[in-house]
Amino acid sequence: MGSSIAIDGPAGAGKSTIAKIVSKKLGFIYIDTGAMYRAMAVHMISKGVDASDADQIESNIDSADISIGHENGEQVVYLNGENVNSRLRTEEVSAMASKTSANAKVREKLVELQQKMAKTTNVVMDGRDIGTVVLPDSELKIYLTAGTRVRAERRYKELIEKGENCNIDEIEADIKERDHRDMTRENSPLKKADDAVEIDSSYMTIEEVADKIISLYNEK
Ligand code: C5P
Repeated sequence: MGSSIAIDGPAGAGKSTIAKIVSKKLGFIYIDTGAMYRAMAVHMISKGVDASDADQIESNIDSADISIGHENGEQVVYLNGENVNSRLRTEEVSAMASKTSANAKVREKLVELQQKMAKTTNVVMDGRDIGTVVLPDSELKIYLTAGTRVRAERRYKELIEKGENCNIDEIEADIKERDHRDMTRENSPLKKADDAVEIDSSYMTIEEVADKIISLYNEK
């Protein structure tokens, strides 16, 4: 087993930005597990799957070959051999991923892949169930949160910078709905592991959070 840092928390708390910085500083590989659930969602959308129908989801899992690579320090997700990174961040994929990730068979397949990757290399892995299910023996577990309004403001700024039209109240409502789904689902709900350190990033800079995680790791 390599060394690992597990970072869990709701969408928009800054997990991936921070995990990237921490992994770079420590020389670990960064694994964004949300991107794997998103790639699975891209597959389900391409198959025309109805997300409320478990049978349809389950009969399309085996035909999704998902793997992770790294190019120029960036994680690349391959779906059946194709780099799908540019297709992962649409609202349609976010909504589909949030629904199909609740399926136990989808989780089983992706968790196995995640555990395999952490066996051979040092990783910073982020997601919802890393400290609780995927890497329960991780040396350092972080539960990263931020208030819903703060998270909505961050997302709003990102979209405005991209030139997209959006409404902050709608973004906040959407974040609340996704949090609710992640926290109340039957399979691997989002929750803080008992031995995780909780960090509220609402009023901290990205650098401050990353430095805190690195000093917690160095103290171990
Ligand atoms: O983190 P991100 O927003 O990219 O994750 C996309 C979706 O995948 C989330 O809505 C969440 O439901 C799901 N997910 C999960 N378990 C993980 C990572 C993500 O269920 N470890």
